Amino acid sequence: MARTLLIVEDEDRLRDLLRGYLEREGFRIVLAGDGMQALSLARSERPDLVVLDLMLPGIDGLEVCRRLRTFSDAYVLMLTAKAGEIDRVIGLEVGADDYLTKPFSPRELVARVRAMLRRPRNAGDVPGPPLLQFGVLTIDAARHEVLLAGESLKLTNLEYTLLSVLVSAPGRVFTRSQLLERVWGNDYFGDDHVIDVHIANLRKKLGDDPARPTFIITVRGVGYRFGDGL
Ligand code: CA
Repeated sequence: MARTLLIVEDEDRLRDLLRGYLEREGFRIVLAGDGMQALSLARSERPDLVVLDLMLPGIDGLEVCRRLRTFSDAYVLMLTAKAGEIDRVIGLEVGADDYLTKPFSPRELVARVRAMLRRPRNAGDVPGPPLLQFGVLTIDAARHEVLLAGESLKLTNLEYTLLSVLVSAPGRVFTRSQLLERVWGNDYFGDDHVIDVHIANLRKKLGDDPARPTFIITVRGVGYRFGDGL
């Protein structure tokens, strides 16, 4: 049976081009021109893989990916125009599987799609992305779940994203403005110290002693870094 690919791209020319190349490879193709349409088609057509442009009108590719992850295990190949966006796209934060930076060659796209579809996913007991383990803390990115000594923590989306950003580079110091940009996006204007409030809440949930935290370490005058919980 042909695998179904959902292509989400608002530029008509590029969308048709992608459709042409991937159809020639024998895939069944479904097309969407914006994020909401993409999500609704993802529900009805159950694609195996989604080629998802980052810059879309309405809700952007990151948000589409986040919402998609709540009901679908489809592979997500993100298309991005800016190299600087890559670290937001991949992995913990939104759960894309791979990315291509525009412009890319059609051959490269086809190769990536084929490689992804060869990886087993949810076939029998094959596990998804590996669990991240830091001492008693477990982060299950596939399920957007954080466990402390096996107990599931109730984190808000914002706290989860904040934790994901810190965990994406353990030991690296993130300034408040870097955290703001990554968690709230570029359109946030306000006091950097809003971060501190969420850090405090997150520490409480992680059972971190504010005086001697082991997971989220304050770097005085700079920002925060993730410790390994030891
Ligand atoms: Ca676009």
